[in-house]
Amino acid sequence: MKQDTLFLDHNATSPPVEGVRDAVREALGDGGNPSSIHASGRHARAIVEQTRQRLAQQIACKPQEIAFTSGGTEANVWAITQAQADRLIIGAAEHDSVRAPAFASDKPVTWLPVDGQGRIDLNALEQALNEGQGRALVSVQSANNETGTLQPIQDIATLCRAHDALYHRDATQSLGKQPLSFDSDLMTLSAHKIGGLAGTGALVIREGLAMPALIPGGGQELRRRGGTENLTGLAAFGAVLEGLPQRIDAMAALGDVLNAFEDQLLSHCPEAVIFSSEQPRLPNTSAFAIPGLPAETQMMHLDLMGVEVGSGSACSSGKITPSHVLAAMGVAEDVSRCALRVSFGPGQAMEAVDRFFEAWLPLYRRKAA
Ligand code: PMP
Repeated sequence: MKQDTLFLDHNATSPPVEGVRDAVREALGDGGNPSSIHASGRHARAIVEQTRQRLAQQIACKPQEIAFTSGGTEANVWAITQAQADRLIIGAAEHDSVRAPAFASDKPVTWLPVDGQGRIDLNALEQALNEGQGRALVSVQSANNETGTLQPIQDIATLCRAHDALYHRDATQSLGKQPLSFDSDLMTLSAHKIGGLAGTGALVIREGLAMPALIPGGGQELRRRGGTENLTGLAAFGAVLEGLPQRIDAMAALGDVLNAFEDQLLSHCPEAVIFSSEQPRLPNTSAFAIPGLPAETQMMHLDLMGVEVGSGSACSSGKITPSHVLAAMGVAEDVSRCALRVSFGPGQAMEAVDRFFEAWLPLYRRKAA
């Protein structure tokens, strides 16, 4: 990101923090294959294992439960395609990297509806668990990338346990934004959402759970994921994890910034629709629409003014179809096409809110005139 850009798209990716650049430089300089037994290999192995230890500490799991992957997408596809289950129960607002392998699966799939606030319906989950034949894999994310909606994770985990179902939790948007512990059977994480490098992530696999490899090959990651480890990515991941508790505190402090943002939005534009605002949300995420003002128009205008925001999911940018998340919440297509997502990052403050409105209001006023 350019220095004078106001970056309000931290759910898409969060820029690397300074410790990350140093860690990558060091790993690049030293090199080494973590599987080699010579000194360079042992040094590389130490970087990988230090990251694993740090992550295990931060999410309260055993180091051997962590299998590093090429990111959240791989971890999600691995969970959905390889978990030993007879059928799938999938949240309607999940990320495409969960939905796409579920759509492609030969197994029966039950899609769990969400309400107008984006929360899954626990009664529907219980009914699906009761009705189907064989062991179910339930996949419901902890936090939604587009709206910040938080799901009732503890209730979902309890229901899954009571029905001997496996629970996969895509925690890509929770890591670094709220305290997180490993309390499901499978959990997806991604490093670039917390200031690490894209192309690095993990699937956390409960000890003792059979989990065939998605990518077979060498014996890496306890024979669960072949391929020479991504040393620079894992060095960067380790560096961000060092500061994770501080990052979570900084994110919690964004609650006031978010409230100020939404207060200003509603005071300038009473017709604004703010999504998922009536139930727990991530502290940094505001998704809203001004009916009649298309998202593309707003994004292009803001971009010219040096302000970067998201519309729907960054992974689907360029896609003209409106957000499946908002559709699942019952938002009309013409409103959904006007939806913007503002996602603040650690350390941002009221000046960011003021600068957003300085840039955005002239466009809004032109539309209103
Ligand atoms: N799940 C969610 C909820 C996400 O927001 C994303 C990234 N947009 C992913 C999975 C995919 O992660 P990655 O970019 O590391 O493949």
